[in-house]
Amino acid sequence: MSHQPALATPHISLTPGESIFVLTGAGISAESGIRTFRDANGLWEEHRVEDVATPEGFAADPALVWRFYGQRRAQALTVQPNPAHRALAALEARLGPERFFLCTQNVDHLHEAGGSTEVLHMHGELFRTRCSDPRCPKLPFHDERHDFPTLPRCECGALQRPHIVWFGEIPFEMHRIKRRLQASHVFVTIGSSGAVYPAAGFVREMLYRRENGERVRTVYVGLERPENADAFDEVRLGPAGVLLPGLFAVEG
Ligand code: NAD
Ligand code: ZN
Repeated sequence: MSHQPALATPHISLTPGESIFVLTGAGISAESGIRTFRDANGLWEEHRVEDVATPEGFAADPALVWRFYGQRRAQALTVQPNPAHRALAALEARLGPERFFLCTQNVDHLHEAGGSTEVLHMHGELFRTRCSDPRCPKLPFHDERHDFPTLPRCECGALQRPHIVWFGEIPFEMHRIKRRLQASHVFVTIGSSGAVYPAAGFVREMLYRRENGERVRTVYVGLERPENADAFDEVRLGPAGVLLPGLFAVEG
């Protein structure tokens, strides 16, 4: 049994043999100083999302898109993980890779900086770059450049692009995500508005399993009710950095 202080709300407890799938969104990085879409009034750092986070936006103005991601990289180099990132790293260490799975919509590196060792970045990673030509054999690579006096190009001659899943593109590793969703007993989403699919639909996968007679639990943790709130068993409102430490109890 774990010996945690009593909280006003009960823990999310995991019994021996139970496993958990955690999905995080921009809200978990908000207390580290990275702005979410939601508090930006439909604009992302003063830009229209269509201009900076779609393949069409990149085709129309790659210099603008690289400037935008260069600024995101420069900003991300200055921020630190918060207690919510650390709490998930501690849970991973406690449960191990068989029982804990972390999938993030975030492109920042704060989960890793907070101590998480295995993170599935379904929307890509800010500090990776790849060739924009899908036929090019060159692999995505780590890249902290943030000033682009000229547009970065691959050896093959094509433009390089951020290794980010833009709106209209298919998230990475959906098969692995689906497998882990089907193998988990507890599903927790943290700080995600529930507006961006397919991630916003993961909670429904758990509901289908319940309809098939399986015992599953779903919890949302974040500042406000997400758009898909009705699909969760429970919604816990508050800042992730305050709610996450001490939220989980691992039995046995
Ligand atoms: P979102 O901006 O749509 O929603 C963020 C959610 O977090 C909101 O519901 C908000 O209420 C909640 N929130 C804000 N502060 C919080 C806090 N302190 N604690 C807990 N919750 C808090 O973000 P999303 O749902 O992740 O989806 C939008 C897309 O934005 C994703 O595709 C993602 O890749 C991209 N994005 C990523 C980052 C990042 O990497 N840090 C930042 C901005 C946007
Ligand atoms: Zn190339």
